[in-house]
Amino acid sequence: MVDVGRRGFLRGRPRPKAEIRPPWARPEVEFIDRCTRCNDCLKACPQDILVEGDGGFPKVDFGRAECTFCGDCVSNCQPQALIRREGQAAWSHKPVISATCLPKQGVECRVCGDFCDVRAIRFTPRPGGNPLPEILAESCTGCGACLAPCPVQAITILL
Ligand code: SF4
Ligand code: SF4
Repeated sequence: MVDVGRRGFLRGRPRPKAEIRPPWARPEVEFIDRCTRCNDCLKACPQDILVEGDGGFPKVDFGRAECTFCGDCVSNCQPQALIRREGQAAWSHKPVISATCLPKQGVECRVCGDFCDVRAIRFTPRPGGNPLPEILAESCTGCGACLAPCPVQAITILL
């Protein structure tokens, strides 16, 4: 799938920085090779969470909303830079909660847990302090629903 022009492009210019690609994206090098930057996935996303990233390649902006895993981006990707294989998870990334998280500062807050449909954020009581959020990696789908509602933007995605 690599044509001469694209080889030249990849050799002659720095690769775009790694970003959160749309769900079911091929591994980064393959993805960059196949993606034509047509923006069809951006137009297809009913959540409007796909935006142009570095070099014009699509990335996810969880500041807008979460991914519902509808698959519309994948089915509209003609070059198959996004491809959904049976049983394959959309992503391997997980959210991380930083030290600015309100309960870690002694303030009661459970907003992220309230927005997590799959209940992947547990608040465990602890003696002498507010319950702290804990992300259950085995349950988390990486949908990003917890990012935007956090009042102090304490949650980010670890690539
Ligand atoms: S799966 Fe659906 S909601 Fe998620 S990025 Fe693709 S089009 Fe948007
Ligand atoms: S639809 Fe596919 S080829 Fe087009 S910008 Fe999105 S990922 Fe790239």
